[in-house]
Amino acid sequence: MYIVTANEMYGIDRYTTEEIGMDGKMLMENAGRAISERIESNIKNTDVITVFAGSGNNGGDGYVIARTLLNRGYQITVIQVVPDEKITGDARYYKNLFINCGGSISITGDPVEIDEALNQTDIVIDAILGIGVKGELREPIKTIVDTINDSPVRVISADIPSGLPADEGAAAFDSVQADYTIIVGYPKMSTFLQHTAPFYGEWETVDIGFPESAQTSLTRSVWTDRQFKNKMPDRKKDSHKGDHGRGLIIGGSEEMPGSIVMTVRAALRAGAGLVTAGSVKQAIPVIASQCIEATNLKLKEFDGVISGDQSIPYQNYDAIALGMGLGRHESTRSIVINAVRQVDGPLILDADGLYHIQHDLELFKGRTAPAVITPHPGEMAMLTGVSVQEILREPFAYSIEFARMYQAFVVLKGSFTIVTAPNGHQSVNTTGNQGLAKGGSGDVLTGIILAMTMQHEDLFDALRNACFVHGKAADLLVSNSHSVYDLMATDVVEGIGKVYRT
Ligand code: ADP
Ligand code: ADP
Ligand code: MG
Repeated sequence: MYIVTANEMYGIDRYTTEEIGMDGKMLMENAGRAISERIESNIKNTDVITVFAGSGNNGGDGYVIARTLLNRGYQITVIQVVPDEKITGDARYYKNLFINCGGSISITGDPVEIDEALNQTDIVIDAILGIGVKGELREPIKTIVDTINDSPVRVISADIPSGLPADEGAAAFDSVQADYTIIVGYPKMSTFLQHTAPFYGEWETVDIGFPESAQTSLTRSVWTDRQFKNKMPDRKKDSHKGDHGRGLIIGGSEEMPGSIVMTVRAALRAGAGLVTAGSVKQAIPVIASQCIEATNLKLKEFDGVISGDQSIPYQNYDAIALGMGLGRHESTRSIVINAVRQVDGPLILDADGLYHIQHDLELFKGRTAPAVITPHPGEMAMLTGVSVQEILREPFAYSIEFARMYQAFVVLKGSFTIVTAPNGHQSVNTTGNQGLAKGGSGDVLTGIILAMTMQHEDLFDALRNACFVHGKAADLLVSNSHSVYDLMATDVVEGIGKVYRT
């Protein structure tokens, strides 16, 4: 499922009308009808419906919806929130059809009248503003939106909640809070941003006849259940442990032996053939007792942390993960610096590994083998020198910039984790839940990533499948045996098998 910006959506519209030759009115009719069908299956026959219609294409969709539902016998009225002279083009055409079918319209921006109408309504269809919204809402629409939001009535938005920007980057906006949004064609960027996603409520997309060829330039998508299954490599009947990768995980310190344990266990559960944990002598007994299937590599230590002054036989491994529980001691730094320089297979950097590399990012440019960074928004802010706010506002853009500049894969974690390849292609993960908002969840993800990296041909697929499995394990646990409160990172490790079995 592709994800589009407003401009990409306009491009798809233009292509479909100009190159394919489909009439713009037909697209609007298709959109309004498809949305009406979804609305019908979500409401009762007796519901009183009010459509709030604006002047643009979204308002036009609103008039198609109003006509369709009127003709199917629903009690429906339209409140047109803009002056009549603003209704032009296709919207005007569909407004007239609604009137010709006997539909009634009141033209008002008066909050008192609107409040009265809301009191007599079961369902609001929000067709005020679509993806053409610019900046914060102006009056009277701002007050109308506030009035709708203050009322307990159920709100169904057509395509996008009115006022919500389609794209990332908006610093401030007002928006209808929808209970349910029926998205036309493709989900927009704001469907997957932490601060805008909640405005959509539940959502789904409807197909209105855009041709497959309109999608060829799109580079951003949601990673789906079907893709996960298709890309999961077979495990051959006659395979041996060497076929599933030899991974080295470096991390841990005297004070933090736990996180590497979670990474190691997750890597084993996720299917890695052989896993070695490299850590300080104080942490090894903990790791060894918690992960008896792993082997250990005792690293030189300095004051309880891994010493930077040593060489590590990276060439013996297929992939390396580095950083969990490493600590931030200066003397550890050169382990990370040297790994970025020397590891000539896939290198995954997480947590304190990211901390230690923050001033030497240029080293990524000298690598011939892929690097993967797995920052949470706080770590991404540290790496890019901007605030967490800015990262959250434009996670797609900051990921692309980093991935292109340093030719690295970026796994920017969050409630929607975004995986970005060095060529700028992006994939959003929609599995996972707030039960993962607990220390250790990221360490588990790194272990799954390491295992997937060694089992997949394609690293981008490996990363997308890893994020999928991590979130899905949490989802299955929360819907069966756990809650979002008690779920722990170690439970997620044990839940990996549930994902594989489905
Ligand atoms: P750790 O490595 O244990 O996660 P850090 O000190 O590196 O801890 O990072 C924690 C900081 O990063 C917190 O102060 C928090 O503000 C920020 N942070 C972490 N996750 C998020 C997130 N999802 N959204 C915004 N900020 C975050
Ligand atoms: P830690 O360093 O403590 O192990 P991180 O912050 O590095 O944790 O990683 C947290 C993991 O949990 C990430 O994979 C993130 O996507 C996931 N996660 C955290 N909160 C949520 C949430 N609300 N919804 C979905 N996933 C979440
Ligand atoms: Mg982490």
